[in-house]
Amino acid sequence: MAYSFQSLPQLVDMRGKLASKGNYSKRTKTITHRVWHHSLTKKHLAGSDAASFAAYHVNTLGWPCVGYSLIIEPKNIVQTSKGPRARIVYANDIDRRTYHVGNSNQFSLGICVAGDYRYDKMDDATIASIADLHAALTKDNIGKYDTSHNEMPGYSWKACCVYDYRKLVNWKGSVTPITPTPIPDTYTIQEGDTFWSIAHKDGAGGVTVDDLIKANPNVDPEKLKVGQKIIFGKAIGQSQPVKKQNTSTSNPNGNSYIKKFQQWLNQEYNVGLVVDGIYGPKTKAAAIKALQTEFNKQFGAQLVVDGKWGPKTKAAVRTISRGAKGSITRIIQGMLYSLGYDPKGFDGIFGDNSFYAVRKFQGDKKLTVDGLCGKNTFNEIFR
Ligand SMILES: [Zn+2]
Repeated sequence: MAYSFQSLPQLVDMRGKLASKGNYSKRTKTITHRVWHHSLTKKHLAGSDAASFAAYHVNTLGWPCVGYSLIIEPKNIVQTSKGPRARIVYANDIDRRTYHVGNSNQFSLGICVAGDYRYDKMDDATIASIADLHAALTKDNIGKYDTSHNEMPGYSWKACCVYDYRKLVNWKGSVTPITPTPIPDTYTIQEGDTFWSIAHKDGAGGVTVDDLIKANPNVDPEKLKVGQKIIFGKAIGQSQPVKKQNTSTSNPNGNSYIKKFQQWLNQEYNVGLVVDGIYGPKTKAAAIKALQTEFNKQFGAQLVVDGKWGPKTKAAVRTISRGAKGSITRIIQGMLYSLGYDPKGFDGIFGDNSFYAVRKFQGDKKLTVDGLCGKNTFNEIFR
């Protein structure tokens, strides 16, 4: 059965065509709530569309597909017989329980209006599309109530949505603009939540992913469990910093991870290190030699392999990011560990744990926290 919203002229059916990794499960409850979101991405920007949200939700949040069923794109205008309309993307089957409001996903339909309405002004073509879609969904009997993200349980602190959806959907109740409550000091994990989804929509000056990682050193961001409590909001500033690894020189047996690193450097680069498991200037110089050798081999850098971190070596750096594999990644892992940032492995694969270690390191060194190992990060590690 086709729904009437599907015949709206400004609608494009992109089900199955957006980035995805697996499938959302089928709803076991009837939809009662239509939940209105905004994307907090400026509406005219390249990333302010369904395809970009899908890429972000799949690649960064690890969700099966984009978290909304329907997405309104103000930057894509469709001329219809009723006038200009913002394009509506049908992204996930209505019967799929997508991730957007945690424990309420089961009975909630997620609709996102692209834009950051703290700053963007909503245009007429978008307002008209919201009204058209709302009328059609009502006719189709999909949902009974309209709410905003921050009216759903557990999300009162979210700056989502900040446009007055009630006015737009002709809701007959209050038209008081929605103001988020302060961010609570603890947060209980709901379905689909990740550090990225919890952090990135906090509004100006809110909690960042890095803040969450630092404030919750014993929480594995990859293994959040529904119901788990994490430190959040103001409590973040009061939490303990992440404990550093013991790389103390007073340990007579040294550290086994560092031993492995030193052994590998000897084996691959013939640097003649004493394998004592203690990190010091000699290990660092050996790591720089290894790096220079790799830069020469892989990038044709023509560096002198002298174990000194100078401007030429720095200039030869190419950004290493998540998913990278090989010797350069292994050198980064060994160095991060030695400096107290555990990548949880010495395998030469730049996976999630290496990514988190880089981010922690960047945060502590006041670098841009992006998890990318570029010139500035290399410089901070090796100088
Ligand atoms: Zn939202």
